[in-house]
Amino acid sequence: MLITKPNYFDTFRCIAGSCPDSCCKEWDVQVDAASAACYRNLPGALGNRLREVLYDEDGETYMAITDGRCPMWRTDGLCRIQAELGESALCKTCREFPRLTHDYGDFIEYGLELSCPEAARILFASEDAHLVTEEIPGGESPEYDTEAMEVLKRTRKTVLSILSDHSRSVEEALVLALLYGYQAQAELDGGECLSFDAEAALAEARALAKPGDSEAMAEFFQSLEILTEVWRQRLASPSPAVPSEKLRILAQYMVERYWLQAVSDYDLYSRVKFMVIACLLVTYLGGDLADTAQLFSKEIENSAENVDILLDAAYSHPAFTDDKLLGLLML
Ligand code: SF4
Repeated sequence: MLITKPNYFDTFRCIAGSCPDSCCKEWDVQVDAASAACYRNLPGALGNRLREVLYDEDGETYMAITDGRCPMWRTDGLCRIQAELGESALCKTCREFPRLTHDYGDFIEYGLELSCPEAARILFASEDAHLVTEEIPGGESPEYDTEAMEVLKRTRKTVLSILSDHSRSVEEALVLALLYGYQAQAELDGGECLSFDAEAALAEARALAKPGDSEAMAEFFQSLEILTEVWRQRLASPSPAVPSEKLRILAQYMVERYWLQAVSDYDLYSRVKFMVIACLLVTYLGGDLADTAQLFSKEIENSAENVDILLDAAYSHPAFTDDKLLGLLML
């Protein structure tokens, strides 16, 4: 079975008490069934506290946030469950975060979530981030449409090479990634496998581009569920920046994370637009790119509801039409 992961994946170590944000803030942590059963049966003070803070909703169990923090969070920044029972007692969410696992049956892809500040630091500090693949024993039958996956794997390689082509500006690279995404969607829909003509694509983009609307984009994000006050304020008071070369890293991260997921619903293009919109938004909001991208990830990527709304809006919201996205990148 093949395992694919970013080359920086194994360097991640949680910085716990030194973390500037912490995954133990703001979120109600989803607790897997086995851990929830174990926690509810624990004797003593820790068990009593866990029974107070666990609640069930829509068939899932969660740990309720108290005063903006996980109730297991200690003032030294460490987790009470881990301190008293050891790391193996952590629920699946806390044990794995910020590691992402996409198990396709006969291959697995790993990644790190950008919403973790330490993962964001590692990602944006990496000079040569790329995917590495290794073979391990085991594996099951593919659980996906193999033809579609072949298209997605091939086109992902192409878009990653477009994004890492430093002979073009970062804006041009994003324009080309957007237009290539459109071509890749056509291939996924059963169309011919064509070579990508970057010069023709840029000429088409220049002809199509219309003035974009960053304010409308920010207003859209204000309409989504907002977790932190700082994000609300950033959206209300943007500080537009010049597009940074580091946007290539953000775009690459999103391509690696979402491209193959289109095998589940054959909708690649909304994910491509999601990537472009993310790059445009963090640039519009300004500030340190890694910090803004981390906050974006925490607010958007970590909310399945926000991601679903954004993927739909990528097709339907007037601020996200192709011509306006191109305009924001080119005009
Ligand atoms: S956000 Fe990342 S670095 Fe911070 S406490 Fe959580 S896992 Fe550790």
